[in-house]
Amino acid sequence: HAKEKGPGQFSFYTQDMNETSMERLAIESNLRQAIDNNEFYLVYQPQMRLKDNQFKNVEALLRWNNKEVGNISPGIFIPIAEETGVINQIDLWVITKVCEQIKSWQEQGLTDITVAVNVSAGHLISDTLLEHLKRQILINQIHASQLEIEITEAVFVEHTERTIATLRSIKKLGAKIAIDDFGTGYSSLQYIQNFPADTLKLDGMFIRDLENNDSSQGIVRSSIILAHSLGLELVTECVENQFQLDFLREHHCDLVQGYLLAKPMLPHEIMVLCNS
Ligand code: C2E
Ligand code: MG
Ligand code: MG
Ligand code: MG
Repeated sequence: HAKEKGPGQFSFYTQDMNETSMERLAIESNLRQAIDNNEFYLVYQPQMRLKDNQFKNVEALLRWNNKEVGNISPGIFIPIAEETGVINQIDLWVITKVCEQIKSWQEQGLTDITVAVNVSAGHLISDTLLEHLKRQILINQIHASQLEIEITEAVFVEHTERTIATLRSIKKLGAKIAIDDFGTGYSSLQYIQNFPADTLKLDGMFIRDLENNDSSQGIVRSSIILAHSLGLELVTECVENQFQLDFLREHHCDLVQGYLLAKPMLPHEIMVLCNS
């Protein structure tokens, strides 16, 4: 047993490796049944419009509660779902639930809310997604304009022509398109210029160190100007302190999202906040 007598570092290393790959395996196999087992639910994080301080926009964020793997962040399980292909069903499930939620809010008197939905599967930016959206909007009798599809830059860099065609169809339906995590992907200004978007969502990394970083301040200011020059709204995420909020207000950012304003919430809490 030479291995067991080897340097502690080595055995720790392999132990960690095993735990990591075991955890990944557990996530992978549990993910496949998560929809059928009712383990997913959505929370909604409000965004404040700086022009009138109103909360009429929210982002739907996926939560997974599984007995074996516990509560795991979508930051961890979504990439695994993407690699294994399970993401297709997840994205469609999320769209279904969001449309049902908009209808339910509507029935309770909340009629002017817009919900941003994250869609990550590149090849789902296709007819399947479009047809599913149309169907859910029809079934639930909601307005397409109450939906905003958030995609990351990576999605359309890999699937340009077809993706853009489908996104145009989604816009024709009346839904909105947001480019998520802007500034961290691969998009050129040419893409942005020709892309049928309504909203640029600046990545939180530029907000995080805003107070002490002149170049982040420059990037935020220029992104707001860029968005407005293209006729888009700019949303910033991860707003956690007053300095950031004041800075964004001063530079005419349109919408802000972050723990300073509100954490992701359950549907009944959104009712209270957005209806007031
Ligand atoms: P994202 O779309 O950029 O979502 C923003 C993330 O920032 C969310 O994390 C949110 O909870 C978090 N956040 C909000 N305010 C603050 C803040 O003030 N400070 C900090 N540090 N974080 C804040 P979450 O919910 O863990 O989601 C992580 C990522 O997972 C999302 O990034 C998105 O890419 C993906 N994701 C979430 N839900 C879905 C979904 O339904 N479908 C798909 N395909 N992807 C999803
Ligand atoms: Mg998002
Ligand atoms: Mg984002
Ligand atoms: Mg992000």
